[in-house]
Amino acid sequence: MTKPSWPTDLPVLPLRHTMLFPAMILPLFLSDANEKAVLAEAEKTERYVFLGAWCGEDTTCAREEPDQPSWKGALGCVALILKNTPMEDGRVKILVQGIAKARVRRVMARSSGLMVRVEPLVETDMPLEKSLLPLVSKVRQMGLKLFTLRGMHAADAEAVLQGISSAGRLADFLAMNLHLDPHQCCRLMAVVDPSERLRAVAEALAEELQKAEVQQEIASEAETALRRRQRERYLREQLKAIRRELGEWDEDKEEWAYREKIQAAGMSAEAYQVAMRELDRLVLMQSDSAEASLVRTYLDWLIEMPWQRTTEDRLDLGEAARVLDADHHDMETVKERILDFLGACSLKGSVKGSILCLVGPPGVGKTSLGRSIAKAMGRRFVRLSLGGVRDEAEIRGHRRTYLGALPGRIIQGLRHAGTKNPVFMLDEIDKIGTDARGDPAAALLEVLDPEQNKAFSDHYLSVAFDLSQVLFIATANSLEHVPLALADRMEVLTLSGYTDRDKLVIARSYLLPRQMEQHGLQPGDLALSDSTLTALVRRYTRESGVRQLERVLGTLCRKAARHRAEGGCSPFRVFTNRLERLLGPSLKDPSLQQFPGIPGVALALAWTPHGGEVLRIEAAVMPGKGAVVLTGHLGTIMKESAQAALSFIRTRAGRWGLSSDFHEKTDVHIHVPAGAVPKDGPSAGMALCVALVSALLQKPLGQPCAMTGEISLLGDVLPVGGFREKALAAARSGLDLVLIPQGNMDDVAQLPAYVTRTVHFKAATHMDQVLGHLFGPDRGAACV
Ligand code: ADP
Repeated sequence: MTKPSWPTDLPVLPLRHTMLFPAMILPLFLSDANEKAVLAEAEKTERYVFLGAWCGEDTTCAREEPDQPSWKGALGCVALILKNTPMEDGRVKILVQGIAKARVRRVMARSSGLMVRVEPLVETDMPLEKSLLPLVSKVRQMGLKLFTLRGMHAADAEAVLQGISSAGRLADFLAMNLHLDPHQCCRLMAVVDPSERLRAVAEALAEELQKAEVQQEIASEAETALRRRQRERYLREQLKAIRRELGEWDEDKEEWAYREKIQAAGMSAEAYQVAMRELDRLVLMQSDSAEASLVRTYLDWLIEMPWQRTTEDRLDLGEAARVLDADHHDMETVKERILDFLGACSLKGSVKGSILCLVGPPGVGKTSLGRSIAKAMGRRFVRLSLGGVRDEAEIRGHRRTYLGALPGRIIQGLRHAGTKNPVFMLDEIDKIGTDARGDPAAALLEVLDPEQNKAFSDHYLSVAFDLSQVLFIATANSLEHVPLALADRMEVLTLSGYTDRDKLVIARSYLLPRQMEQHGLQPGDLALSDSTLTALVRRYTRESGVRQLERVLGTLCRKAARHRAEGGCSPFRVFTNRLERLLGPSLKDPSLQQFPGIPGVALALAWTPHGGEVLRIEAAVMPGKGAVVLTGHLGTIMKESAQAALSFIRTRAGRWGLSSDFHEKTDVHIHVPAGAVPKDGPSAGMALCVALVSALLQKPLGQPCAMTGEISLLGDVLPVGGFREKALAAARSGLDLVLIPQGNMDDVAQLPAYVTRTVHFKAATHMDQVLGHLFGPDRGAACV
């Protein structure tokens, strides 16, 4: 081996990121004190150094242990320091030129740093052989592609690659430019056969090329997106400028006003994104186009929704009780349950998952109770009437693609309330219908379900709105028509109708003062005695609640106001005998009008969602062939009751002096007038039977009396439901006798004293007792 022209004992400069190959030049920046010490050592070795692959922190150990194996046998490059420039930041920049590949023979420790003795690596490089040409040309092609991808000019890259005339040099040149780490470079250096080295480099080159291509793709995609955005912004600015020129655009005022409002609205992240997107669209539209006005309306809805606004809950039970008492007479049990409910809410600290449902006839104060709950809690109150709602879109809104689309009534109600935690009354939930336009009840289920309503999605808004803080209160006249799944979710509070006594107190303490105030009257301007008020209640109203009463009082207040306006003296006195002149003829109970003395008429008591009713039942018999006709819109159960009553009478024919085959020679017609009252249920059985017997015997009932009770085929009288409403209806109609099943006697004890004082309740266990009482020789004595 010829002796090299450079010293063989050299200081080591470990490289971390790259490796130098012979005949190539590399700039290096030295910052470490050890590295700078190598420069001083190099001065002693004619500025030659050995560049090796950095082998971790243990290079320092190599200095302490001379036989450090990690350096022994290691490959590297002997280099000449061409230039050495200290920099302002304390580092030193050196320029090194690769001289020869070499291997470490010995490691020598010096106090000043690590020295190694190296020997040159024998290489068999030679000019290009013919057989290598295809590989070389392929590698050159790949190299060219890589350099151009990295931004080098193609002609320059080609000139450099073509200028390298041997396979080994080409391999070394590419290896150095492949951004390989020093260890990989050393592994390549170890391959002494130039053609093999070129093949290995070709593999690494293919890999690097692939990486560069992917990077290039990503970069160009990002660049395209950036360019598109810039282009859009540029075009938008231009468009604005043109509009400004044409006088169509009001100096960005609208856009900025919207932007500020959107930012101030406190929207959810989702709503904010949608609003900003719509605003961007709006900016591009012609400002007076129809579409722009649709977008504006939509943005207004989004902005005005109470995304964050709430009122602070006042869950003071004492105060709540005071408010409920101040607004409503009596209703003790309902008030108690409302206070229990508020108590639970105050413990939980939220109303989540609580839905109240107030059930009762119209005018008994369901809506005003809801209003009082809101007042007691310090919340806003909104009311949505569901009566006749058949279209799901009324709850959930129309999609914005529809012309004239609007949000559903829930969202409308919340915007109207202005807070996200109002008391929301869903009025007449039992009147909700279903048809081809969807099922509003299903949509309501979503509204009321605490699991789902945190993100209620209205079709118009198209972004989720949180309903979980809303306190929903539903009202219904009866639970019968409320979808089961809905009824299941709610806590039901039942309100029953008022007695005349209740109505008197309500009228005196609540309705009259309110009506007087509404009509501009002072407290002393209208005088009404209790007896006149009672007459008013009895003669001019026939209802379970007090709505009609309030209207009648309103009429009287208007009369008083006119009297005052005409200069009349105060107070305007209303006497019982003036009622007819002031209010017109009183209501007459049609069921009582023709009562006395007509055979075949009986009065039944019926329960309807609007309270109790007195129903007149008529039966007529005529010669015929045993036909039974039932008219008056009767339900199936009532028809069956009539059949059972007839069969029972046939079993008792002898007792009442009827021939045993009377049913074969007579046709029976049962009719129940008052077609508007829904008539079904078993409780008219007793009245049907009485009417039939009265018609067959041609004997009228001795006195006006009403009755309620289901009868069995064998004549047993069975108890009925809705007793309180029925009893109140009887009292309202001025009846003083009511025949009832023995099983309902307990309910009589629950009735207000005023009813039991005026109405006499006679109990029976069997129809024989009832018929004996009404038609027998010992009339009036047979019942219990
Ligand atoms: P509903 O919703 O049950 O049909 P409302 O709440 O509209 O009935 O009541 C009708 C009117 O009767 C309201 O003015 C209400 O204040 C009044 N009202 C009903 N019940 C009472 C009561 N117990 N005390 C005082 N006012 C009452």
